[in-house]
This record gives sequence, C-alpha cells and structure tokens, in this order.
Amino acid sequence: MNRTSRVAVVGAGLAGLTAAAHLRATGADVTVFESSAAPGGLVRTETIDGHRFDTGATVLTMPELIVDTLGALGISAADARERLALRPVDPSYVMNYADGTSLSVPHDAAQIPAAVESAFGADSAHGVVELLAWLRNVYDAEYDVFIDRNYRGLADLTDTRTRRAAAELTRLGALGGLTGAVSRFVADERLQRAFTFQALYAGVPPHRARAIYAIIADMDIGRGVSAPAGGMGRLGDVLAAALTDAGVRIEYQAPVRALRRGSDGSVTTVVTDTGDGVDVDAVIATTERDATAALLGSGRRMRTLQYSPSAVVVHGLVPEGMTSRWRSGHHTVDFGAAWTQTFAEITGRDGRVMTDGSFLITRSAVADRETFVADGLESVSVLAPTPNLISADLAWGELAGPYTAEVLRTLTGRGYPGMDELRISRIDHPRTWLRDGLPAGTPFSVAHSVRQTGPLRTANVWPSVPNLFLAGSATVPGVGIPPVVVSGGLAAARVAELLHGPEEAR
Ligand SMILES: Cc1cc2nc3c(=O)[nH]c(=O)nc-3n(C[C@H](O)[C@H](O)[C@H](O)COP(=O)(O)OP(=O)(O)OC[C@H]3O[C@@H](n4cnc5c(N)ncnc54)[C@H](O)[C@@H]3O)c2cc1C
Repeated sequence: MNRTSRVAVVGAGLAGLTAAAHLRATGADVTVFESSAAPGGLVRTETIDGHRFDTGATVLTMPELIVDTLGALGISAADARERLALRPVDPSYVMNYADGTSLSVPHDAAQIPAAVESAFGADSAHGVVELLAWLRNVYDAEYDVFIDRNYRGLADLTDTRTRRAAAELTRLGALGGLTGAVSRFVADERLQRAFTFQALYAGVPPHRARAIYAIIADMDIGRGVSAPAGGMGRLGDVLAAALTDAGVRIEYQAPVRALRRGSDGSVTTVVTDTGDGVDVDAVIATTERDATAALLGSGRRMRTLQYSPSAVVVHGLVPEGMTSRWRSGHHTVDFGAAWTQTFAEITGRDGRVMTDGSFLITRSAVADRETFVADGLESVSVLAPTPNLISADLAWGELAGPYTAEVLRTLTGRGYPGMDELRISRIDHPRTWLRDGLPAGTPFSVAHSVRQTGPLRTANVWPSVPNLFLAGSATVPGVGIPPVVVSGGLAAARVAELLHGPEEAR
C-alpha cells in the first residue's frame, strides 16, 4: 500500500490509547473515536461536588507497560516517568483480618518477609520467601509465551517455545489449583488469602482458579503497586496528550454507531454520531464482544460468555484526621471471616450479596493528599464485590443505598470509626455499569474461567472481517490495566501484519 494507512480505534480507554500509540509508531494515520468527553475509560479520576475521586481502577501494577507505550511514541523512559509522576504506594496493601491481625505489605518485596514475620511468625516468613520466588518463576514462564503474544493458530500452540513454557508451568505446579499451590509455601490460611484473593481481579474465585493466576500476585505484591500524582486519570491524560502531539486525532463525544463493510467483508467506513463516516483500512475495537457485533450489524450466533462478578463502589468524604484512626493504607483489603462462602455468593448461579463480606477500601490521599483532601475532607472509596446481573438480577436502583449503609456500618464495627458517617458522593452499582453499556452489569468483563482464558478467550481477530481486530478486557490477554495495555500492542501488531506484512509485526 503506497498511501498512508488509515486506522480507526474505537474507544479511548487504556486499551485503545495503547493500540493507537503502537499503530502510530508504524506510521499509520490514526483516529480514535470515544463516546465520552475524556480519555481513560474505566481508569479515571472524577470531580464530584468539588472533590476528586479515583472512580475506576485504583491498583496500578506494572506501570512500565505504560512507560513502554509512551516509548513507542519516541518518549524516553525518564521523560515518560516524569509525565506520569509515578509514586510507589507503600505499603502496597494493608490487609486486615477478622481475628484482628493486620499485615502491611511493603512495596519493596525484599521487606515482605519481615512484615510477614511480625504479623504471622517466623515460619510464615520463611515460606513467603520461597513463595515470592515461585511467583516470579510463574511470571517468567508465562508472560512472553501466554500473555504478550499473538497466536497464529495451532502451530503456535504446539511449537517448541510453547511446549517448553507449558512444561515449566507444569514443573512449577502452576496448572493445578491456585490455593493448593500457594499452600505448599504458606500454611497460614490468612497468608494464603493475601496471595490468592487477586484471582477475583480475573473474575474467578481463588479456590477454583488455576495456579497460573498467581501471576497477578507477582504483579501486585511481588513488584509493588504504584500511583500517578493527581490520580489514576493521569494515565489516560498523559497517553492522550502524547498521542495528540504525535499526530493522532482523538475525537471525543463521538460514539461509533456502525462499522460499515464492503463486498469482501472488510470494514470500509466507521460511522459516528458526529459525522458522515470515515473511510478506513483497518479498525481496532475495544468494545465488549456483543457491542462490536452490534456495530457490524452481525447476526452471527456466538457462544454464551460468562461474566465476572460486579461491585458496588461507594465514593464519599470523611473529615481529615478520622482516617488516622483506621489501620489502613492507600489500598486496604478488609477480610470477613468467611471465604469460600463469599465467593459462592458472588459467583454462583443464584448469586446474592455477601453475608460476611470482604471489601477494598481506597484512600488515594495516602499517595496524594494535595489532590484527594479538600476543605478538610478526605475522599474515600469502598468497593464491595457483588454478583453480576446474570447471577442475581437485583433491583440495585433501590438496594444500593441500604446495602451501602450496611457495608459502612459493618466496616465501622470492624475498626474504621466514622465510616458510617461517610458523606456519600456517589454510589456505582451493577445497574449503573449496565446503563454505561457494560454487559451483565459488571465493569470486570468476561471472567477468566478455563474456557475463557488464553487461546480459548475471544481472540483479537474477528472471524470473517479481515481488517477488524479487538483490544481491551473482553479479548486476550484479559481484564485489568496490565492486560489491556498488552492487548493494545497485540492488536496493533495484527494491524501492522495485515497492512505491511509479517516483518512489521512483533
Ligand atoms: C471500579 C473498578 C475498579 C477496578 N480496579 C482495577 C484495579 O485496581 N486494577 C486494575 O488493573 N484494573 C482495575 N479495573 C479494571 C480496569 O479498569 C479495566 O479492565 C480496564 O481499564 C479496561 O480498559 P479498556 O480500555 O479495555 O476498556 P474501557 O476502559 O472500558 O474503555 C473502553 C472505552 O470505549 C468507549 N466506547 C465504548 N463504546 C464505544 C463506541 N461505540 N464508540 C466510541 N467509544 C466507545 C468507552 O466510553 C470507554 O472509554 C477496575 C475497574 C473498575 C470499574
């Protein structure tokens, strides 16, 4: 192709922005279409009644993936880090248990054994050293071969590289159950929770997850959590600004309504609310699978997907100083006494709200007081996992208020005085996520069950539409900031291969 290729990206979440950066690096003429007025998608910092809140993702792991994305636009790592203003979150987590124990997980993994020793004793500390090394081995065996890789068919699945990696994962015991694998290193059930609860980030109950999901614990506990100054929304803002500087057009408030196809089935035109249509050579869609099918007007029968549990997230204000009475950090996981039962409640066919819940409390002010404390009030968010709307079709419009009050009362009783007086700014719940177009009312997309993971997950190529590729949490490798950033690079590599041949692809 002699002229510059025109590529459209649907969605300016982190997947779309990353895809756009890698596309631009190949010289393509890139336009990103975004329904809303700002970049970042589900990673955002919003102002509610004059106060700032991280209203989407809060736990930032592997920020170097975003640094690398900026690198694709010619920005040095040092410059990228400066623009992102990354700060270590230390401790990465505070974990509070029903028996009163508290574990502060230091950002620096070298300090974790000492923290574990003071919370759980010397035996646990010894086990944790080995556990951290095992987690890193799982990561090393898995990442390049099974996560950051475009599969081109059966040959890739059976080649030497894949077989070696699979053999290594087998040797590490990573193909068995997650809890069993972790319990080989740490006998204390509380510590097992600390290293397995992350499976829920992938939409899978820890006791049913494969040990390959231990990679998430390496990403957060093993490598430490970070936060950008000014809040999580900075990630999208910095990426969008760098893209604009590099000549990428980002059209906000421009929802894509249709992907019109030509006679060979390829997408020829992207139709938006704001214009007549833009001619394209290729498209990357970061929409959920069924939304993408709707844009194509496709009536193709597709397999039923299983979605992750959802969440009620309450954002509110407490007087500054009140939080100093809490055992808490930037991210606090407060575990109920129940465990397997909790996951049965939120992931079962007949789901219900947790009876003895575990919660994630976020205090972004710990990393950035300037942004998240105003008029003597600190912004606090509490995330309570819930079933999605397929699992439990609950009337959240009426339930969210009373349920939130119950959660806040529970947390007050668990040692967070004043939580029940939280001045509520906003409650997000499964019905609001559904209203925002998220299937099953969950922002956590398609669960990573065995049939929806790796090569079995919805692929990033769309069958029968040769120039349409997918990125984002519904496709490979999956849900969460690091996977969607990887997905953007993978989809861009597919486009490069289509337009320029395999030598341009990664
Ligand atoms: C409350 C909450 C907590 C979370 N916590 C974490 C966490 O701590 N750590 C973590 O790593 N992840 C977390 N996540 C998950 C993470 O935020 C997502 O997996 C990730 O941001 C998804 O990115 P994406 O680009 O695939 O999709 P999105 O961010 O959803 O972006 C898609 C974009 O496409 C736009 N769009 C949709 N349809 C159209 C259309 N037709 N035309 C134009 N634009 C369209 C949308 O407006 C949106 O901006 C959390 C999510 C939520 C909501």
